[in-house]
Amino acid sequence: MSKLQPARGTRDIYGEEARNMRAVVDAFQRVASSYGFEELATPIFEFTEVYKRPLGETSDIVSKEMYSFESSAREAGDKEPEELTLRPEFTAGICRAFISNGMQQNLPCRFMSWGPAFRRERPQKGRYRQFHQINAELLGQDNPEADVDIIAMAWRLLNELGLGDKIVLHLNSLGDQESRAAYRADLVAYLSSHKDRLSEDSLRRLETNPLRILDSKDEGDREIVAGAPPMSASMNEASKQFFDTVKAGLDAIGIPYVHDEKLVRGMDYYCHTAFEFITSELGAQGTVLAGGRYDGLIEQLGGPPTPGVGWAGGIERLAMLSAAGHVPARPVMLMPMGEAATRKAFELAEELRSAGANVISDRSGNLKKRLNRANRAGARFAVIVGDNELESGLAAVKDLDAGTQSDVAFPDLAETVCNMGGDAR
Ligand code: ATP
Ligand code: MG
Repeated sequence: MSKLQPARGTRDIYGEEARNMRAVVDAFQRVASSYGFEELATPIFEFTEVYKRPLGETSDIVSKEMYSFESSAREAGDKEPEELTLRPEFTAGICRAFISNGMQQNLPCRFMSWGPAFRRERPQKGRYRQFHQINAELLGQDNPEADVDIIAMAWRLLNELGLGDKIVLHLNSLGDQESRAAYRADLVAYLSSHKDRLSEDSLRRLETNPLRILDSKDEGDREIVAGAPPMSASMNEASKQFFDTVKAGLDAIGIPYVHDEKLVRGMDYYCHTAFEFITSELGAQGTVLAGGRYDGLIEQLGGPPTPGVGWAGGIERLAMLSAAGHVPARPVMLMPMGEAATRKAFELAEELRSAGANVISDRSGNLKKRLNRANRAGARFAVIVGDNELESGLAAVKDLDAGTQSDVAFPDLAETVCNMGGDAR
């Protein structure tokens, strides 16, 4: 049999990478809590409509990246087959949950979520088919100060992860509906005059979603896009003011940014503020966290008109950059020799753990084998309990760093091991 591999674009996560990813989620939970965010965990699959409608048929995600399937389980009571989709992003599902649970009574809502997301795209370093996101949404506030809050939260998190000087905040305003429509017309006029040089993808988007052409990765497109009219020229007064207030708020906190007129977001539902935190250290996968305002989304899903602003960060990319994972404290290896000692060791192990030590019970093989395993596990102490020790009431404690050994009475074991640095690495 050939070597059994995970499906393309999926990976097993363990060791240092798992620790680094956990550190990102831990920091996110801490920081988001400090801004008043509470956990909302939505299902990992939803009715396909939940994503199709708000993201737009022409978005990359809906048009080619979603894992959608028809599911029918008549035996389990389904009447009709259901069209389901694995979560490609969090926002739409969270808005669905907001509506389903009648949460409009409790506005504003601040939700933090994290977990896997699925997109069928070409796998590369930092780009997978199952990847993981941290996600924050602030619902029910249409004021620009809310945008400042949500960006400040991202900024604080990135700094806690030690990324402050590895990333740049790119900021843009897409304006309100009127401004976007005006810009769309200007852009289409400009791009139409360069139709002969546009890529095939962009030609299609010219009809369906011209703003996305600004985001094209095609070299030829990029040259044309460089000469496109600036978005800011089409902003009406209200949109300008909104954006000015966002910028003033960021200035007040001292968050640096660049105004990036070409920044648009991949989904249809954005308006006003759009932003991305970008690093130059991950090549083409340089966007580590991105978001913006989506005032029409909840209404589009069939809920009461409710403004929203939020962001999502890629846990893999953040973990790769920050490598902030904590190695667990060095374990104590507990080595009972014989049946009676094994029973006694259950009790000793729990006492040691209650005192704060990490304990691995190693019950197999001769002492030499066990000491080898202790070294591989990075243990500082080996605690040996055999018949002699049971009789004397003293455990043999080996300090594996110093190469010394001492006898310690059972009741003093926990204190001794913890005081001698059993949990320091
Ligand atoms: P990209 O331009 O890299 O495709 P995107 O605009 O599709 O990103 P978003 O939908 O804004 O990404 O998702 C937010 C974040 O999730 C991204 O900034 C990135 O860090 C991460 N992310 C998105 N897609 C993937 C993926 N396939 N694998 C790993 N991380 C991803
Ligand atoms: Mg993408």
